[in-house]
Order: sequence, then C-alpha cells, then structure tokens
Amino acid sequence: MTLTADTRTGFTTRLFIDGAWTDAAATFEDLNPATGEVLARVADASAEDVDRAVRAARAALEGVWGETPGVARGHLLNKLADLVERDAQELARLEALDIGKPAGQPAMLDVPNTIATFRHFAGWADKIQGATIPTAGYLGMAKTHSYTVREPVGVIGAIIPWNTPLMIAAWKLGPALAAGNTVVVKPAEDAPLSILHLGKLVEEAGFPAGVVNIVPGLGGGAGAALVAHPDVDKISFTGSPEVGRLIQKAAADTFKRVTLELGGKSPQIVAEDADVEAAINGIAMGLFFNQGEVCAAGTRVLVHRSHYDTVVEALAQAADAQVLGDPFAESTTMGALVNADQRRRVLDYIEAGKASGAKLVAGGEHDGPGFFVRPTIFADVDNSSKIAQEEIFGPVGAVIPFDTLDEAIAIANDTPYGLAATIWTRDVSNAHTLAAKIRAGAVWVNGWAAIDPALPWGGMKSSGIGRELGWSGILANTEEKVVTIVL
Ligand code: NAD
Repeated sequence: MTLTADTRTGFTTRLFIDGAWTDAAATFEDLNPATGEVLARVADASAEDVDRAVRAARAALEGVWGETPGVARGHLLNKLADLVERDAQELARLEALDIGKPAGQPAMLDVPNTIATFRHFAGWADKIQGATIPTAGYLGMAKTHSYTVREPVGVIGAIIPWNTPLMIAAWKLGPALAAGNTVVVKPAEDAPLSILHLGKLVEEAGFPAGVVNIVPGLGGGAGAALVAHPDVDKISFTGSPEVGRLIQKAAADTFKRVTLELGGKSPQIVAEDADVEAAINGIAMGLFFNQGEVCAAGTRVLVHRSHYDTVVEALAQAADAQVLGDPFAESTTMGALVNADQRRRVLDYIEAGKASGAKLVAGGEHDGPGFFVRPTIFADVDNSSKIAQEEIFGPVGAVIPFDTLDEAIAIANDTPYGLAATIWTRDVSNAHTLAAKIRAGAVWVNGWAAIDPALPWGGMKSSGIGRELGWSGILANTEEKVVTIVL
C-alpha cells in the first residue's frame, strides 16, 4: 500500500462528548516528528470537559446502553470493525504522520490488529455468562440455589500512550464495550489523531451518544481529572511505570479498579541450538520495529557464547542497514522518535551505555531535522548497567553473552520488568523449561511479538497489573455478582 502524507496540517481538533464534537477553551500543539513542524492544534480537555464526558458516559450506562443486549453490542462492534477496514489507509496515514513511524507499519500491524480486536470482542458480546455453583448446605449452612452473573464495571477511563494509540484504544474499547461498559478515552498528547478519527467511526457505526467519549488533553490535566473523578469506576491505563504508580495511588482514594499495562525490558534469548539466521531477523525486528518504541521491544539480547560474535556482527549490520527518513517514502524502514524529549532521553541512554564500558558496535549518533536517532547496538553489556536495566523506548539494543541456560534465565529475570520474552531454540524441552522459569506475561518461542486479540496481554512485576484481551479482557471489564436463593 502506498500512503502519502497529504498536505492538511495546522488544523484544530475537537472533543467528542455525548455524541457531539465540541471545541475546547484551549488547545496545544501536536508536532510532526519527522519534521518538527506543527501538525495540528489539539483541543485540550479541561477538568470540566472531563466531568461532562463522565456524566454522559454514566447517563448512557444507566439509559440506552444499559438496555442494549449483548447481541446488539456485538453488531455495533462488527460495524465499527467494518468502518476501520474501510478507512484503513487513512488511519495508517494518521498514525504515521502523528508518530513518525514508517507508514507501512501501521498498515501491516496497528490497523489490522484494531479490526481483529473489534471483531474478536464482537464475538464475546453475547457470550458473557456466569456459573451455577453447587453449595454445601450442611453444618448449619442454608441450602441454596446460587449462580453468578457478570455485569459491566461501569464508566471506564481509558488512558492511552502515544506509541501505538489506535491499537491500544481498540484493546481497551473492544472488551469494555462488549461487556456493556461506557468509556471516556484520554489519548496521549503526542498522538491523538487516529483516535479522533476512530471517534468519527464510532459515531457513524451508530453507538448511542455517551457510550464512547474522547477527551484529548495533557496527562496532568485531563488525565489526572479522569483518574480523580469520583464517578469513574475503573481506569484502564497503558503507559510508563512512573505514571502507572501515580494512577494506582490516586485511584485508591475512590477505590477505582485499575489495570496497568506498563513498560518492559524484555529479553530475547538465543540458545545454543537456535536457528541463528531466523533468530537474527526476529531479534532485529524486536529491536527496531516502531523505532524501538514498543513496550515489548526485545531490548536485551542474551546470546549463547557459541553464537555471540555472529549475532553481534549481524545485528550491527542490521542496524546500519536501516534507512531513516520520511515515513511516507517507500525506502524508509525506520521513522523518527515521537518528540524532542524522547530523542534527548534516548541519546542520554546512548551516552550512559558508552560510559558504562559497553562496546558500541552500531549507531550512536542522530540525524536531523526531525527527531531521528540511528539504531544502536551495544555489545558486552553488563546486565546491571543502566542500559540493561531501564526502559529506553528507542532503537537501542544491549547484547549479553551467556554460557548455560540457567545463567540465561537468571539474567532474563534480573530486571524490575516482566512484560515479554522471546526464546530462540529448536529444542522443545529447552523451550518449555525457559518458558516456565522466565517471569513475564508473554513468552514467545521462535518469533517476536506474536500477539493476537484472543490472547491475554499484560505484565508481571513493574510491567503492570491485570490482563487485557481475550476472555481475560472480559473478566477485567466485568464485576462478578453472586445471587443466592435460600431454599
Ligand atoms: P506516559 O506514562 O507518559 O503517558 C501515557 C498516558 O498517560 C498519556 O495519555 C498521558 O497523557 C497520560 N498521563 C500522564 N500523566 C498522567 C497523570 N498524572 N494522570 C493521568 N494520566 C496521565 O507514557 P507514554 O510516554 O505515552 O508511553 C510510553 C510508555 O508506555 C512506555 O513505558 C511503554 O512501555 C508503555 N507502554 C506499555 C504497553 C503495554 O501494553 N504494556 C503498550 C504501549 C506502551
């Protein structure tokens, strides 16, 4: 698919509240990461706007949406999937323009995954059921007939990061709407455009007013107002551990339910028996896809010493071969980082890597005028160093040798994170042993980021709390009620 940037820039966006598009009192600038120029002026939702959105969501929940049966919610989600499919090119274009990623990537991943997610949850919408539970009725306890039902949690605040905003919005909207909740979405300040377009499609699909509301704004403004709002029942957050911690603390004041999808420092392990060529391609993808701005990026490459030199050399070549530039040029394989702060942060980590004594084998410098950083590989990295312990969220890989699988497991688990891990091996018992011993929410064998809306997604340790997607996503968006009839 060939996508073009087109020339529309400098437009002002609106808020989507209670089925209507309205202006905000203030706006902020959204920059094009590939050029540094202003792309749009984004309506900045105030605490009052957030309050209006929450009230609209509550009214819909207690009104028409609460009366809408699962089968009808499923129809609407399928209709939304159809419209995303129809507007696939426009959505991929907006994602590339707003985030700076090569346009082929959202066309290949974000948009198809969004469609698949809405279709998956359309399927669940009329199949959410409880259980009939036999009770004991002895030792003085009453004989009962007891059953459970799963009810919507209520009004859900969905807070989205900037790296894959459309897809993550779908991961939150799909299960929430299937389960009968209403949602107030707070997109990231750096990348609200695809979600605003999705709002148009929500409207066109025919969701009742107030079921989905979109309030772009700043984290400490609209985001904090949503978290503090007493009438929001749950916050579904994806973003950094720092903000996740703030949200969990703030949510405690009103006992909101919280799911947190946070950062990672995921290992990719190349065992002695690995198909090394396949591993190298997969590892490069895990390092460089989306400029490394991926929560599950496989940034720690643990390589059996017998393959170490081969893998280091191949990854350095793969880094040097990346073509940085205009996200809409066919030749571009890596785009710009999202903003100047992110570029500064990544370059600071590269300096920290050099200072740590690790060996820089590729990259290290940056190109202008947008927020570009050359893909960077460090070899001989000490796993206790900053570049191996902290999430960089950029195209920087740390390669570490190991001699035994036990050593690989110990290194893999030695970070605060536990989001994902990739194992490259041809030995099925090695695969199962490593999968069992690595503390991560997802373990992939012989492939990186094999995600699917049917599979639970979430992290252990500092990578998060709770799961979204699949049946786990339905559980996270429902409250269980038990009904007991005393016989
Ligand atoms: P971020 O935490 O800075 O921001 C995420 C969202 O939180 C934004 O919408 C922001 O406006 C909002 N926010 C900021 N401060 C807030 C506050 N005080 N109250 C309420 N909301 C607030 O993260 P980011 O820079 O947008 O995204 C990068 C991070 O997201 C990385 O750590 C990455 O690993 C993580 N991430 C995780 C997953 C996952 O599935 N686990 C997926 C994508 C990204």
